[in-house]
Amino acid sequence: MRRDIPIQAIPPTEGCGDVQVRQERGQREVFCGLTGIIWLHRKMQDAFFLVVGSRTCAHLLQSAAGVMIFAEPRFGTAIIGERDLAGLVDVHDELDRIVGQLLARRPNIRTLFLVGSCPSEVIKLDLGRAAQRLHGLHAPQVRVLHYSGSGIETTFTQGEDACLQALVEQLPEREDPAPNLMVVGTLAEVVEDQLRGLIEGMGVSQVDFFPPRQSHELPAVGPNTRFVLAQPFLADTARTLQARGAEIIPALFPLGVEGTSRWLHAIAQAMGVAEARCAEVIAPAAARAERSLAAAREVLDGKSIFFFPDSQLEIPLARFAQRELGMRLTEVGTPYLHRQLMAPELALLPSQTEVCEGQDVDAQLDRCLAAAPDLVVCGLGLANPLEAKGLTTKWAIELVFTPIQGFEQAADLAGLLSRPWRRRLKLAA
Ligand code: SF4
Repeated sequence: MRRDIPIQAIPPTEGCGDVQVRQERGQREVFCGLTGIIWLHRKMQDAFFLVVGSRTCAHLLQSAAGVMIFAEPRFGTAIIGERDLAGLVDVHDELDRIVGQLLARRPNIRTLFLVGSCPSEVIKLDLGRAAQRLHGLHAPQVRVLHYSGSGIETTFTQGEDACLQALVEQLPEREDPAPNLMVVGTLAEVVEDQLRGLIEGMGVSQVDFFPPRQSHELPAVGPNTRFVLAQPFLADTARTLQARGAEIIPALFPLGVEGTSRWLHAIAQAMGVAEARCAEVIAPAAARAERSLAAAREVLDGKSIFFFPDSQLEIPLARFAQRELGMRLTEVGTPYLHRQLMAPELALLPSQTEVCEGQDVDAQLDRCLAAAPDLVVCGLGLANPLEAKGLTTKWAIELVFTPIQGFEQAADLAGLLSRPWRRRLKLAA
């Protein structure tokens, strides 16, 4: 489902941005938004994600997360069955009972997300009303929120957008007149610590990362809040923050040396930090990261890459692969293209780059096979068939599950792209 969201004007950046955008509406091969629970539950350590769904949803989560038998995971599925559908039990009573048991057994939970899914029996449920009722029962100890991770409404990373949007509505109003910075998007803790160190090193002391590690410690937001996206798939979250008075900082996304440098420079400019101060703070880490890319660049320089749409990270990844690793872009697929949020990235893609928004998977497979790229970034379901046709693939999901943002992770990101090609070279030797 495409959503056109007005975001406050982002000024154009350098470059021509003369990309060719093809739109496709056909069969698509992407995960649903439930997948975001995997990284969201790791980040917010006092939150629980209760999917209201079917056995299929439970299987998806378990296989994506790995089955944690000995740890008590902070996600689960309340399976709505045929008995409920037939009206033999009241689903709301069942949900109240399950939530009551869960919260009694897990007193550390401070935020409970009811996550909607797409089976028809769940669509009939008013989860918003259920969340309100349960919040009334369990607040203030536990805040109960809801969002949809349904495969009908969301793809893959849109689950995080829906979750964070629900959380933004809970942020307290900021009274302090001093400007503050909010970095928006789930990042691995190691990445967050590094970026915080650089931002604070520039002299920006009032900085919050959102979502927070503890879901009950929500940062305040107000008209003096400037926010910058760390992930490209958060259009609804950005719009809701703007509705709360916050102002977006247009920037590249912090992937690769160039992306991270420009992201930090954009923050510095917005927060009144002198250009020279910013350059001085980031120079050592940027130089280290630049050197660390050499090995991957040696393997990938001049090779072609094709992106199937999956995580919405494709355009920043394409910019990184082309500008920092010397790769040629064959086609850059993305599930959705938010032109304003993506404007700084699009402006840096080579003229005439083929960007494809949406998917018609058969047509795209034909194009990919005809182009015979050196590397294909695609979903799990397409990787084996493409490998069987002799192509080299990288699972897009790995690029979401692995910390790849920031200077220290630039080499890891490059390594994720170069490893499949190295493996193929070894097999051919
Ligand atoms: S939400 Fe829908 S698409 Fe996702 S696992 Fe459940 S049934 Fe499948």
